[in-house]
Amino acid sequence: MNTHSEVVDRLRGAFQSGVTIPEEFRRTQLTMLRSMISDNEERILKALHQDLAKPKFEAILSEVEIVMNELHHAIANLSHWMKPDYVSKNLATKLDDCFVRREPLGVVLVIGPWNYPLQLLILPMVGAIAAGNCVIIKPSEVSFATECLIADLIPKYLPQDCYTVVRGGSEETKALLQNRFDHIFYTGSQTVARSIVQAASVHLTPVTLELGGKCPCLLYGRLNIVAAAHRLVWSKFFNAGQSCVAPDYVLCSTATRDALIPALKDVLESFYTTEPQKCPDVSRIVSLRHWTRLVELLGKTRGRIVLGGEHDQEDKYIAPTVVVDVAEDDALMAEEIFGPILPIITIESVEKSIAFVNRKEKPLALYVFSDESSVVKMVMENTSSGGFCSNDGIVHMTLPGLPFGGVGGSGWGNYHGRWGFETFSHRRACMLRGWALERLNGLRYPPYSEEKLKW
Ligand code: NAD
Repeated sequence: MNTHSEVVDRLRGAFQSGVTIPEEFRRTQLTMLRSMISDNEERILKALHQDLAKPKFEAILSEVEIVMNELHHAIANLSHWMKPDYVSKNLATKLDDCFVRREPLGVVLVIGPWNYPLQLLILPMVGAIAAGNCVIIKPSEVSFATECLIADLIPKYLPQDCYTVVRGGSEETKALLQNRFDHIFYTGSQTVARSIVQAASVHLTPVTLELGGKCPCLLYGRLNIVAAAHRLVWSKFFNAGQSCVAPDYVLCSTATRDALIPALKDVLESFYTTEPQKCPDVSRIVSLRHWTRLVELLGKTRGRIVLGGEHDQEDKYIAPTVVVDVAEDDALMAEEIFGPILPIITIESVEKSIAFVNRKEKPLALYVFSDESSVVKMVMENTSSGGFCSNDGIVHMTLPGLPFGGVGGSGWGNYHGRWGFETFSHRRACMLRGWALERLNGLRYPPYSEEKLKW
């Protein structure tokens, strides 16, 4: 018996009663979730501002609208997703019904991080509900205002016996993980992921891991440097660089770097003014602990800060910062940055940059900026990453048709749209037979003979 077993048992009872199975029930919950977001948009924006000083525009784009789109998409496609897939048959099975049936897994646990505290909790939940599961969500305690809001809203919109919020930090989560779940969906750091996998292994629970890593951005060949600077700055400094798919570092030639830096300076000033600390479009670092880690990284780097570098502890502020002359073994290259610091590493050829990327763990996203399609193709075909996007950053994850997830160290499994529904479904192989063709079936019964083998 542990602190959360009653909650898990309650949800298991609800699941076993079959209440979450009918399509209409699932659709109703998804519709309620949609109402929850639209009825409470102002409160959501306020909580996100409290946690991260998220600009309203960014919060609407990356938390509210992305969740609403996922919900519209799931509601519109639910019937289609739930249909069985009939498979091709052979002579021995031609009279049978052979199909793949999607069945819910049972009681699933979704553990979320703090950087997009609404999106990264609710998006997996959409897939889990659509697939007919009961769901426990565990928001991050670091984004406290959003955690409180979610814990307040979910019971007002969804039945508590099927969908529950458990709050708390690492100790609470460890206690929760002692229970048996039918699936665990975890978004967060690689370090914590190891203990999640360990806890899941006790019950042999399957796990989806949505992790981070260092997402490279390669700039090679002919290039529209002004457009590249706009897209790079936007995707890197959105949410103050606290995005798992933010470009972590840039690889380019010396000539490209020399053209890029003044372009980055112009774009930074045009986006955030010459006094970014006063600009409402610049988010803050989520906590003092995270702020200290980033400022220490800036202190340790042997690179040269060419833009930004200012920081203010009281305000948890770090200016959008660009660092050049960064070596492969620099402190900035030792871990995922997850903040508004962009190192630029100069490597003269795209081939050597590809080799550089391939020496590291497979990233969650990989970006290449180039006017030359042959360069884009070469990078895409000679590297591996969770997702890939040319001439932009982050945006590939906004399409529900594309699976979102990592590969290797950046994650296991994926979600978004139908991919989320599949993650939370068991694909049951079903064969419905009658009693026909018994003479044909007789060929496989003993006594065996050489004659029968010829068939
Ligand atoms: P984290 O791993 O510290 O925390 C994530 C969740 O795990 C929180 O809910 C937290 O309460 C819980 N937790 C913390 N310690 C735990 C423990 N010892 N045992 C069990 N649970 C524990 O991650 P974070 O700091 O919130 O997020 C940052 C990381 O997440 C970055 O590495 C980032 O790249 C990654 N991330 C990945 C994605 C993605 O979709 N792939 C999205 C966002 C963030």
